[in-house]
Amino acid sequence: MPKLTKEQLEQIQEYIQSLPEEEREEKLKEVMAQFEQEAPQCPFCLMNESKIPTTKIYEDQNFLCVLEINPVNNGHMLLFTKRHIRLFAELNDEETETIGKIIKKLAFALSTISEGLNILDSEGKLAGQKFDHFVINIIPRSKDDAMKISWSGKQDNEEHLKKVKDILIESMPTEKPKAEPVDEDRLKKEFYKLKRRHP
Ligand SMILES: [Zn+2]
Repeated sequence: MPKLTKEQLEQIQEYIQSLPEEEREEKLKEVMAQFEQEAPQCPFCLMNESKIPTTKIYEDQNFLCVLEINPVNNGHMLLFTKRHIRLFAELNDEETETIGKIIKKLAFALSTISEGLNILDSEGKLAGQKFDHFVINIIPRSKDDAMKISWSGKQDNEEHLKKVKDILIESMPTEKPKAEPVDEDRLKKEFYKLKRRHP
């Protein structure tokens, strides 16, 4: 429940009092629901707008890279888009073309101060994504640090692997035809909106 100011509370109270008694309870519920729905502000967008102080490592027109304020090790960085998008697959052409070069630069810089490195993109709540903003954690590693990455795999068979391969290849977006330019960004946004509505 977000905190309301005294003035806001008084305004709501005044408005509710002005209604016929039998409508008050329902209207009050409606008003309070509106306040609850207010989305919390995205910390990455706030960093981009300089509303949260950061230690910038890299910046260009599409990306910002800052030092994590609670680092696993020295040099733990967060690389994120300036646009509020959620997933790697939502990057536009320009961002897609530059992100590899940026990570290469950052990884090179980190290799001078660390022995190992994880480049971690967590997408979806299940994968540990905490905010709906695309971010890559670039984490230098050191012996006995407080980070664990492990999984136990189950052995698969050749037939099933082939089925999975076919599904994935089938699902890969094809290059768009040059004669008909498509607003890929808008399409992707629509697609993810739909996907969120019908997971
Ligand atoms: Zn955001």
